[in-house]
Amino acid sequence: MSVEELKTHSAVHVLKGAVQEVLGAKWTSSVHVSGGHGRLTVKFDREPAPEELSKIERRANDKISEGAEVLEFEMERPEAEGHFGDAIYDLFPVPPEVTLLKIVRIPEWNINCCNERHVDNTLQIGAIRLGKPRFRRSKGELELEFDLAE
Ligand SMILES: [Zn+2]
Repeated sequence: MSVEELKTHSAVHVLKGAVQEVLGAKWTSSVHVSGGHGRLTVKFDREPAPEELSKIERRANDKISEGAEVLEFEMERPEAEGHFGDAIYDLFPVPPEVTLLKIVRIPEWNINCCNERHVDNTLQIGAIRLGKPRFRRSKGELELEFDLAE
């Protein structure tokens, strides 16, 4: 993963926190990162309002410029599930044979089990700019595209 993709991937975690806060959309179906471009796909049942999208972008960028720590640690799976419940999981499954989970946590914002590398501090991300979202009614999914901005 390039340095740029490390930032973009880390931005996905920040964006997830904002999407969960603003839309209450808890479940991520997929994540895609390519260079400075990212896409977060979440389960959602309607087209979001423009005000909701601008709030998501604003809340994510507030969190980035706040300089929040991005913590990585390992935990035994039953212990992690006991502490954090299903909040650590996405809809793409962690194989059952994995017993030690890598957890990434932005305190009071987002927690996820994730094997990728991350920035240490959200300031390193810079900023994000949301593109036009795509709501797929048939799948009940919302795709949020973004680019890293200066
Ligand atoms: Zn990650």
